[in-house]
Amino acid sequence: MSCLFCRIVAEEIPADLVYSDEQVIAFRDINPQAPTHILLIPREHIPTVNDITDEQSPLVGHMVVVAKKIAKKLGFDDQGYRLVFNCNEHGGQEVYHLHLHLLGGRPMQWPPG
Ligand code: 5GP
Ligand code: ZN
Repeated sequence: MSCLFCRIVAEEIPADLVYSDEQVIAFRDINPQAPTHILLIPREHIPTVNDITDEQSPLVGHMVVVAKKIAKKLGFDDQGYRLVFNCNEHGGQEVYHLHLHLLGGRPMQWPPG
């Protein structure tokens, strides 16, 4: 298995887990871009947003609901945060296993770079 995030799901590579259920896991980004930077990933391998099927819509919705619950648990839901899916080259995607970035703990800039 060559996918880095599949290996984290399989517990072959350690990660600082903050959430886990039968569909998704969430762990701290190794190179945080904000005071709190968490990655939410499906256990199932989906390479990019472009590969999400209609049938996987509930899974992706679940990722967003889990993200807002983590933001609430960590105490920055009221102040706010950013959720990001990077897709392919122009989106700045580096790991080709679907992931949702949850960034919080500081004001974010807009437009993004
Ligand atoms: P992308 O650029 O694909 O949207 O984001 C990939 C993210 O994965 C980056 O923010 C990067 O820091 C993070 N990352 C890459 N390798 C690892 C790793 O081995 N462990 C963790 N926790 N994060 C990683
Ligand atoms: Zn994978």
